Amino acid sequence: MIADWVAKFADDVIAEADRRAPGKPIVCASGLSPSGPIHLGNLREVMTPHLVADEIRRRGRACAHLLSWDDYDRFRRVPAGVDPSWAEHVGKPLTSVPAPPGSEHANWAEHFKAPLTAALAELGIEVEAISQTERYTAGAYRKQILRAMEHRVKIDAILEQYRTKVVERYSPYKPYCALCERDLTTVTAYDDESTELAYTCACGFGESVRLAEHDRGKLVWKVDWPMRWAYEGVVFEPSGVDHHSPGSAWIVGEQIVGEVFGGAQPIGPMYAFVGITGMAKMSSSKGGVPTPADALEIMEAPVLRWLYARRKPEQSFKIAFDQEIQRLYDEWDALGRKITGGGGLPAEKAAHTRATSTAVAALPATPHPVAYRTLASIADITTGDERQTLRILADVDGVAALEEVRPRLDRAQRWVDTQVPAEQRTRVRDSADAERLGALDDDSAASVRLLLDGLDEHWSVEGLTTLVYGVPKLVAGLPVDAKPTPELKQAQRAFFALLYHLLIGRDTGPRLPTLLLAVGADRVRTLLSP
Ligand SMILES: [Zn+2]
Repeated sequence: MIADWVAKFADDVIAEADRRAPGKPIVCASGLSPSGPIHLGNLREVMTPHLVADEIRRRGRACAHLLSWDDYDRFRRVPAGVDPSWAEHVGKPLTSVPAPPGSEHANWAEHFKAPLTAALAELGIEVEAISQTERYTAGAYRKQILRAMEHRVKIDAILEQYRTKVVERYSPYKPYCALCERDLTTVTAYDDESTELAYTCACGFGESVRLAEHDRGKLVWKVDWPMRWAYEGVVFEPSGVDHHSPGSAWIVGEQIVGEVFGGAQPIGPMYAFVGITGMAKMSSSKGGVPTPADALEIMEAPVLRWLYARRKPEQSFKIAFDQEIQRLYDEWDALGRKITGGGGLPAEKAAHTRATSTAVAALPATPHPVAYRTLASIADITTGDERQTLRILADVDGVAALEEVRPRLDRAQRWVDTQVPAEQRTRVRDSADAERLGALDDDSAASVRLLLDGLDEHWSVEGLTTLVYGVPKLVAGLPVDAKPTPELKQAQRAFFALLYHLLIGRDTGPRLPTLLLAVGADRVRTLLSP
């Protein structure tokens, strides 16, 4: 049995489901609004129930993970970058708004669902997607809508506890106008007996409908959400901090689901904010918000899953698009080695298992996981040249074919291309810096000569590491295995800076052994010979 926060929730959810609906498949749920790009931060809304549902399936229990698309919600505003003429659609359901110009998708909602759906597939997250437009317009919630109207005074009273302004003629149901399709409507009369409902619209239109037959409207959000808990029998559904303030949907939902719909609130942890560090401006083509697809371009699916699996929902964390991603990958590789070697704490092992597999299958892995920072350095230096990349990887780690290091190599390449600022990119000099070479003092000249003399014999990561650290020792008259002293460290730093200047015209750069291997022995000789 795996011991971590996911397992703990799975225990609770199974026990609760057995109390509420014994013998039925267990239901976990997520909800997203396709009103715009789905931010990477919102992935927690799906990832949290996914991990719990997956753990329940690992235990051999049937479990559905519903992803409710709130695509029958109103279009609120025209985002920056979209033709201002879209303003005429404000107030219509998201599925009735044309997709942004140039999109291949049928409508606004589909346009923003598609990339998230693809990202979920890549992440191994299986969901049962539900379109609320389909549900409402098919009359699926007819009974529940009539029930809400019947209890409108009670619902009004529940909401009234938290209201700061007076609401007249409260209706939990809001029709979309039959003429203009917008929700600028006011319910002016309702008869419980006949279900006759009258509304007027800001466009001037007005009509009377029989609610028992009406499929062009929806329950307002604070009633809609608890209605669906009861309708679907949801036992687990987390939500963000914004849903938990006094009078918010989660708080009033608890009362409404019980008193109006005869259901119960799900087990619902509040999850904390997920931040992003260092998303480069140049890659934020979608209005500056990174999406899960953006993250999957620079990191493998198991690593992204791991970030969520290892943190409890109430812990916030950040997803690195900057240099920090290299350290993250080091940590990931170290954990993998520890577990392969039979070590690791139970919670670490649990997170690793959840990251690399689901109840259904293992996620694709890179067969030969060369360090991300090494791949990034090579991608940087070779600017993606495959022949050069393979030559270096063969020297660095005995890689025989690039397929062995994919998909990690492609992610590192993409990271270098989109996230590393131009001034931090490595550019190997075209020709030797004759001026600097001509002005070297005796010790420096001797160091460069020793390095060149030892190149062939030391042509590997380990060999070159020994060589670049050893040369300053030899020049100082010390044995190669001498312990470092402050003077020696200073001499090493000075030597490294000299090599960086001679090779790439800067005083820092990728690790020297990797850089030397990437530049190639012939070119190193050209650039270091006076
Ligand atoms: Zn209208």
